[in-house]
Amino acid sequence: MTTQTVEKHSFQAEIAQLLEIVIHSLYTDKEIFVRELISNAADATEKLKFLQTSGQSIWQSDRELKIEVKTDSEAKTVTIADAGLGMTREELMQNLGTIAHSGSKAFLKLLGEKKGDAHLIGQFGVGFYSAFMVAEKVTVRTRSHQESEPGWEWTSDGRSGYEIEPCEGLDRGTTIVLQLKDPDFAEAWRIEEIIKRYSNFVPFPIELNGNVVNTVQALWTKNRNEITEAEYEEFYKYTGHDSKAPHYRLHFAADAPLSIRALLFVPEKNSELMTLSREESEVHLYCRRVLIQSKPKELLPEWLRFLRGVVDSEDLPLNISRETMQDSALMRKLNEVLTKRVLKWLEEESKADPEKYARFIQEHGHCLKEGVATDWGHREAIAKLLRFESSYTEPGKTTSLAEYVSRMPEGQKDIYWLQAPSRESAASSPYYEVFSERKQEVLFLTDPRDEFVMEHLREFDGKKVVAAEKAEVGLDREVGGLSADEAESLGSYLKGLLGDRVGAVRASKRLVESPAVVVDSDPHLTASMKRMLKAMNREGAGGFDSKPDLEFNPANPMIARLEKLRHRDPDLAGQVAEQIFDNARVAAGVLEDPRAMLKRLNQLMEKLLVKESGA
Ligand code: ADP
Ligand code: MG
Repeated sequence: MTTQTVEKHSFQAEIAQLLEIVIHSLYTDKEIFVRELISNAADATEKLKFLQTSGQSIWQSDRELKIEVKTDSEAKTVTIADAGLGMTREELMQNLGTIAHSGSKAFLKLLGEKKGDAHLIGQFGVGFYSAFMVAEKVTVRTRSHQESEPGWEWTSDGRSGYEIEPCEGLDRGTTIVLQLKDPDFAEAWRIEEIIKRYSNFVPFPIELNGNVVNTVQALWTKNRNEITEAEYEEFYKYTGHDSKAPHYRLHFAADAPLSIRALLFVPEKNSELMTLSREESEVHLYCRRVLIQSKPKELLPEWLRFLRGVVDSEDLPLNISRETMQDSALMRKLNEVLTKRVLKWLEEESKADPEKYARFIQEHGHCLKEGVATDWGHREAIAKLLRFESSYTEPGKTTSLAEYVSRMPEGQKDIYWLQAPSRESAASSPYYEVFSERKQEVLFLTDPRDEFVMEHLREFDGKKVVAAEKAEVGLDREVGGLSADEAESLGSYLKGLLGDRVGAVRASKRLVESPAVVVDSDPHLTASMKRMLKAMNREGAGGFDSKPDLEFNPANPMIARLEKLRHRDPDLAGQVAEQIFDNARVAAGVLEDPRAMLKRLNQLMEKLLVKESGA
């Protein structure tokens, strides 16, 4: 070739600037050049395929549509070749010399009203220049699919500009040779790793030094009725790193407000239950089958971290760096759309098969609970998905809040719950007595997290969610036992005795059997909430250490006798009163040191035995 045919061009000013940015700051991971060049090759191949199927005459039409990558560690080169559309001289100069113009955009215009595959849109048109992050020289040899067009060679060091000259003997398509600065990328294993990470789902074979390296189909881009169960399962196991089949699967496509294709899975098991450490979501973000980011944190709320799978959106700028991606408004929108869809999906699953759903809740329910407490915007929708035991359900069976509401008798305004270590202790709790008597359902919460869930939920379906011990519920009937005057005088006796350790002391309207209960004087704190705050060492923070109120049951025989006893035997009455107070605190789970109480209990028993044996 004679030197006269070599034309020197300088880059458009914007390109020179762009190269500065690309090389120095846009991409944090240099390896991304592989993704960009392969996705360009795939785009060009896809465009060619489109022209073929729309009946255009194409030069070398029967050439196999594949992408060939070659590494040469001695020469320090990596070569990426496609049999795609190719470029004419003008296209070369436009596509690789200016940025105002994106070849993909021009292509789309060309297709115009014919409406080509929209997923061919290249959004930002800067990916090619990522080659200069790793290469000191880039050579592009290309020949157009139009028969009459000759071949061309384009070379550049990414600094001053580029040269173009004719090139003989080329087949259709584009070959890009990178003369590497960093010999690392000339190692086949390194390139293979990168291809597998980012380009595994590219819809054409990618051969690396002669061997096909991409194997898994991008199932999410296919229609549901074209996919077998076995294919879904294989895909899940591959992308979700699981050896078991998934518990649930959601495959959906949406066009508005964002174009999304997603294939999401819920694993059978939640490993957090075993390892006690937080899992990371295994949902990866793709744009037109090319990985944008694996496990982006902002894609889904943290409480959905049990999900695995793939989200693909054509609306994402493929070429934008990870940092930029993270705060993009688009990501927030994507998050919102996905969250809503997932909530709807889980609700559908709960209705379709309640028993299967119960197993889901058992494994992943704690994540949803976290969602109620942390995700204000979706709080009620998440709460809908939760399940609890209640005084209505059989042991081991659960109810949803909506079902609870549907059973609420006329006149019941609030939803009641009771936190206890077990169903049995909830059912025998003094706080439950009044509800049992009134035949009102109470949720029995046995997971320590539940209390936080309820505190954050506050309302469901317009009904307040209220702790049983805070509920303003009384018995409908007269309780009998002590007269009002007697009760009042016993109350002031107890207050005098217990002094600063209690707030108010009053006759209870809610106790049926138990002699007494303690009730926190703070309307927002339950006894066990207090205990928990204490455990978290948050003294003083919200005044939770306030003295509890004491409610005694005027109908309880022991209470009735105590009122008589205190006149006859003040010592014994004092001990019994102290013990009643401690018992109430034990029931509420707020007695801190039971040892003092044990000593007194022993004394009381001794007195009893002495009396019984007459000694
Ligand atoms: P984008 O792909 O987003 O348009 P790039 O900077 O990656 O931006 O590429 C710029 C343009 O160069 C492409 O739009 C395309 O027209 C052209 N191009 C790049 N690589 C190839 C290729 N392998 N075959 C044909 N055209 C290519
Ligand atoms: Mg590109």
